[in-house]
Amino acid sequence: MDCLFCKISDKSVPSTAVYEDGELYAFRDISPQAPTHILVIPKTHVSTVNDLTEANAALIGKLVLKARDIAREEGIADQGYRLVMNCNEGAGQTVFHVHLHLLGGRAMNWPPG
Ligand code: AMP
Ligand code: ZN
Repeated sequence: MDCLFCKISDKSVPSTAVYEDGELYAFRDISPQAPTHILVIPKTHVSTVNDLTEANAALIGKLVLKARDIAREEGIADQGYRLVMNCNEGAGQTVFHVHLHLLGGRAMNWPPG
């Protein structure tokens, strides 16, 4: 399968690692939209949030908790941060391997734009 984030997680494509264990990989976004912009991905391939099943529930929970831990380590936990998962093109998903954006280090406005 030709998936960029599978290649990043198996290191055949380089990235700047932030955290890794048997199930998850976290790395710096190549085009950061905030001073801290980290992607947390499951090592197993799932294309979109629509494709997640009950069997993935624990994995997705770990993804969120790991992003929370990284936010603390990056020093942005108290000021606040945003966790984003884009699902499908209409929401801006460009890489079809589930990933959680951790964004922080600047003021976040909502709604965007
Ligand atoms: P999304 O638009 O939600 O699918 O997010 C994909 C993200 O992957 C974007 O923020 C891109 O900047 C980021 N990205 C694309 N290629 C790479 C790469 N080689 N290394 C790190 N981040 C990447
Ligand atoms: Zn993949």
